[in-house]
Amino acid sequence: MEQLRLADPYVKLLLDAMKHSGCAVNKERHFSCEDCNGNVSGGFDASVSQIVLCQNNICNQAHMNRVVTHELIHAFDHCRAHVDWFTNVRHLACSEVRAANLSGDCSLLNEILRLHFGLKQHHQTCVRDRAIRSILAVRNISKEVAQKAVDEVFESCFNDHEPFGRIPHNKTYARYAHRDFQNRDRYYSNI
Ligand SMILES: [Zn+2]
Repeated sequence: MEQLRLADPYVKLLLDAMKHSGCAVNKERHFSCEDCNGNVSGGFDASVSQIVLCQNNICNQAHMNRVVTHELIHAFDHCRAHVDWFTNVRHLACSEVRAANLSGDCSLLNEILRLHFGLKQHHQTCVRDRAIRSILAVRNISKEVAQKAVDEVFESCFNDHEPFGRIPHNKTYARYAHRDFQNRDRYYSNI
């Protein structure tokens, strides 16, 4: 299995943000490597605050970083807000929109690889599609209900870039976002 490397700028920023919000992540306690069904590559188990990494479906380090980032965004939402994961589908939809938007799941390179390059508003379209797919992977609801939930929360959740402060389209953006986060922290601690 690929190594759980915490040097990725997306992962580093999220780990800092978790710590800053009082939810420090412990590698041994909060990550679990398992074999998963279908083509699921990861999940966040809110009942035990644990990120599941599907060792049978993660194919390389870049993929691993993306899965860890995506799931850490759920963990961050779980830490900062009272997310009702199990009964309020709009809460789940909001976190899935944020995870798809901010994790690089829909970054330009991924999009080019999916031959979607050139499609107008491809990023928003990709985020919406992936959020709907993620909900359907974990909830036994119809596609229409999932679409409706995503559309209802889309605008506010798509524009909520915490803790990145921007959409980190690539590692350089993520590095800037991390630097800004650290400076923000320093600034507030001096007030
Ligand atoms: Zn997700």
